[in-house]
Amino acid sequence: MSDFVKDDKCIFCSIQDSTTEIFYEDEEYLAFKDIRPATPHHYLIIPKNHIKSISSLSPSDVALVKKLVEIGEIVLKNNSASVSDARFGFHVPPFNSIQHLHLHAISPVNEMGFISRMIFRPDSYWFLTASTLIEKLSKSCESEDKS
Ligand SMILES: [Zn+2]
Ligand SMILES: [Zn+2]
Repeated sequence: MSDFVKDDKCIFCSIQDSTTEIFYEDEEYLAFKDIRPATPHHYLIIPKNHIKSISSLSPSDVALVKKLVEIGEIVLKNNSASVSDARFGFHVPPFNSIQHLHLHAISPVNEMGFISRMIFRPDSYWFLTASTLIEKLSKSCESEDKS
């Protein structure tokens, strides 16, 4: 799609041109496996648009974050992975390895090893769950309204 922002140096912007197996695709989003999976089901869901990180998001992006989670759930279901024992979240800059917004969908959480539990620790200062991010974005929206 020509109207998407793309970064030539970004590997996620050109993921479709690589040999990476795509687990979900629509007009705006893509999902594929994490190259270093923390569990048997560890997927990354990205917008095709080159958005750098959660720091680039504004209250108007709540729908985008919700959509990423929705796709994460679809991909887990399609692959017979648990949706209830799953973790959905984002690395907080500068702890994001790739500078292209990606949601981690990891399942089942009970199979995560010690190191993975650290790397994807819910609501630590380096990893934010999707629900906390949605809450934060919604709150900043409210405070904007009041001012
Ligand atoms: Zn990109
Ligand atoms: Zn990440």
